[in-house]
Amino acid sequence: MGEERGFLKLARQSSPYREVCERLSDYKEVYKMRPVDQSLEQASRCMDCSTPFCHWGCPLGNYIPEWNDYVFKGNWKQAFKLLEATNNLSEITGRVCPGLCEYSCVLGLNDDPVTIRENELAIAEAGFKNGLIRPSRIEKKTGKKIAVVGSGPAGLSCAAGLNRAGHSVIVFERNNKPGGILRYGIPDFKLEKHILDRRIDIWKEEGVVFKTGVNVGSDYSSKKLLEDFDAVCLAGGSGVPRDLLIEGRDLKGIYFAMDYLSQSNRRVSKESIGQTDLIDAQGKQVVVIGGGDSGADCVGTAHRQGATCVVQIEVLPQPAECRTPAQPWPKYPLLLKVSSSHEEGGQRHWAVLTKRFIGEKGWVKKLSCVKAEFSQASQKTCSLMQEIAGSEFEISADLVILAVGFLHPEHSGLLNDLNIKFDQRGNIFTQENHMTSVEKIFSAGDMRRGQSLVVWAISEGRRCAYFMDKYLMQESNLPII
Ligand SMILES: Cc1cc2nc3c(=O)[nH]c(=O)nc-3n(C[C@H](O)[C@H](O)[C@H](O)COP(=O)(O)OP(=O)(O)OC[C@H]3O[C@@H](n4cnc5c(N)ncnc54)[C@H](O)[C@@H]3O)c2cc1C
Ligand code: SF4
Repeated sequence: MGEERGFLKLARQSSPYREVCERLSDYKEVYKMRPVDQSLEQASRCMDCSTPFCHWGCPLGNYIPEWNDYVFKGNWKQAFKLLEATNNLSEITGRVCPGLCEYSCVLGLNDDPVTIRENELAIAEAGFKNGLIRPSRIEKKTGKKIAVVGSGPAGLSCAAGLNRAGHSVIVFERNNKPGGILRYGIPDFKLEKHILDRRIDIWKEEGVVFKTGVNVGSDYSSKKLLEDFDAVCLAGGSGVPRDLLIEGRDLKGIYFAMDYLSQSNRRVSKESIGQTDLIDAQGKQVVVIGGGDSGADCVGTAHRQGATCVVQIEVLPQPAECRTPAQPWPKYPLLLKVSSSHEEGGQRHWAVLTKRFIGEKGWVKKLSCVKAEFSQASQKTCSLMQEIAGSEFEISADLVILAVGFLHPEHSGLLNDLNIKFDQRGNIFTQENHMTSVEKIFSAGDMRRGQSLVVWAISEGRRCAYFMDKYLMQESNLPII
């Protein structure tokens, strides 16, 4: 049992990762699950604030103080019931969410915040362990047919909700297996894929139909999609990667992060990689361009593949280590993150601009770079960046990974065929009820919102399910945040 008013007596304690040399020899998750006693203790640090800012910070509106209290009392059943009420994939967010809620936790004002994400994971895993997660019986079918295009967290959450509302739901996915970036982007050392399969199997038992290996727009025409279904949710993600169109970009050995990570994930799960180049860091000097989370995933993957050295460069300056007056509580701050992959080795350089790639016999060999400086007003963008004269330097590389984000969803094919309208950033434009410019077609997740986070994709999928249900039935009992 934890302590009453634990925040006065107990320090925040996060679960340790496995030892670096042990975890580098496999692709298993880096975390060690926390013992139950420690979960009760850590949950007791929650102050049960009358204005819980954690709740405000979470895009899902998770009932955080309430489930913290149940964990503190060892009542996993009630904790789990509350967690499932707002989150379809808590075992996933419990592993990969950056924890927006923790940055807005009131305890974080003058102490370390509550370990909310880890508490969530403990509840989710207790739910599975104790058989609390079971396929629901769908009592009444509505006779309505719904297609969900894309099986990432947005599509999955939307499909799960609509299925429970009694509609017949088919999820189309062009990859061989469902999951989107959860399966083909996030490496196994952050999220082992049997965790995803465990949840998807429950939804299959509930009646959601998954049609994988189907690229909607070519294998299944947009005309047929409109004819066959009463409503459609487009949840295809933000698939067009940002490129670095500089001299030497056409050299061999330069790849996008998603091509690298999806191939690595396929190899880990012994799935065929098809007729593409093998991208492997074994014995190579690897440079990852892009200092964000996807870049960190590439760093961890390259180390596991046996890279001789890994350098990660970022054009923006190094973020602050703690909050600055410009990033006050309870806002989500842009701070320096040291991920498990960074602990495993490699070098990180900030404010580095890549000017050109230099090759030999058609293969990349070096990057020609220059140091950059920024005016105070432009710390978050490149708009007022200046190159520092005389700071030019080179980095050796025989594998370069571009992890510089995504632009927007693919317009050609399905979206253009459907005559979908886009917003200024090239994402799908929708009304507040998630309906696109085309009647009966809705959208959710990165495809609508732009590149974001798993927790936002789940939130979007849930909201979209509510509005689609309301569109079809005039009212909806599905939860809405
Ligand atoms: C490498 C990487 C690591 C990340 N790590 C994290 C993390 O640790 N934590 C976090 O919170 N967020 C992370 N993110 C962001 C997060 O994964 C995304 O915001 C989230 O997955 C978006 O969900 P989605 O359902 O909108 O789209 P996606 O997950 O992109 O899924 C879209 C799916 O639609 C399919 N599809 C597209 N078009 C069609 C079509 N025409 N027919 C059939 N299928 C189609 C695609 O194949 C894909 O499977 C990461 C992103 C990347 C790239
Ligand atoms: S803000 Fe922090 S301390 Fe307050 S209720 Fe939420 S988790 Fe508990």
